[in-house]
Amino acid sequence: MIDLHSHTNESDGTFTPLELVELAMERGVEALAISDHDTFAGYDQALPEAKSRGLDLVCGIELSTRAPGAGAKGRAVHLLGYFLRQPPPADFRAWLAELIEGRRDRNRRLIASLREKGVEIELAEVERLGRTLTGRPHFARILMDKGYAANYEEAFRRYLGETAPTFVERYAPDVPVAIRRVLDAGGLPVLAHPIRLGMRDLNAEETFIREMRDAGLRGIEVFHSDHRPPDMERYSGIARKYNLLVTGGSDFHGDIKPQILLGTGFHGNLNIPISVLNDMRASA
Ligand code: AMP
Ligand code: FE
Ligand code: FE
Ligand code: ZN
Repeated sequence: MIDLHSHTNESDGTFTPLELVELAMERGVEALAISDHDTFAGYDQALPEAKSRGLDLVCGIELSTRAPGAGAKGRAVHLLGYFLRQPPPADFRAWLAELIEGRRDRNRRLIASLREKGVEIELAEVERLGRTLTGRPHFARILMDKGYAANYEEAFRRYLGETAPTFVERYAPDVPVAIRRVLDAGGLPVLAHPIRLGMRDLNAEETFIREMRDAGLRGIEVFHSDHRPPDMERYSGIARKYNLLVTGGSDFHGDIKPQILLGTGFHGNLNIPISVLNDMRASA
């Protein structure tokens, strides 16, 4: 069993890098990618422990990007990057620092937007929960702790999600820009959980994926906790048709998404074959 999509508490997961390695060993995961949002800090910390325990640890990253123009116009797109040169080039790390600065700016505006609606929370208390970066899941925790939301979902529905009245955008590069950045750093750019594009029109979805392939995309995440069997079938067909690598992972975040288990995903919907990783390695 392998799992190529997971988060530590260096981004918005709840497990420390060492705890995540421990969990992977316990659950019989043979290869694990740490794919935190915008940072390699979790991977860097986990690597020595993984080596000494015999866990095959893969370096990954997840970037929040935006679809340019046309069919998918402005939709939020998550892009995974795998097998970047080690250590990742300085210009790539500098670009990540810019993205994290974009989060800080969004977080300040989000606090102001919440204040306007009478939600009294301080940036400092939210930032205390984050390590390398502070994201909306950290806001959700504070909103719950202070009684503004009964649970995580309600925090997003009422305050943090895209349709909430207090929502604020954050800077996100266009997908092709992020694809180019990952390629230039020697990595494999992969479209994360394509179901979350939310494209009902399957022809438009396929067109978007083809355009991203033309922009340098190398793979798509076929196996994911949010994908039902027909979705996995559809995405694996698209991967074959456009000569894209197949990848997969649970998108484990720890206690904030307790239904998702490392390695096996949502209600055991994942059993990712090791051949997926071998094929990625062969073409990286
Ligand atoms: P951020 O990167 O700070 O904008 O936060 C994005 C993260 O918040 C995602 O990676 C998810 O973990 C979580 N998230 C975003 N939208 C929702 C939602 N509607 N419901 C639950 N979690 C969400
Ligand atoms: Fe996340
Ligand atoms: Fe994601
Ligand atoms: Zn993720």
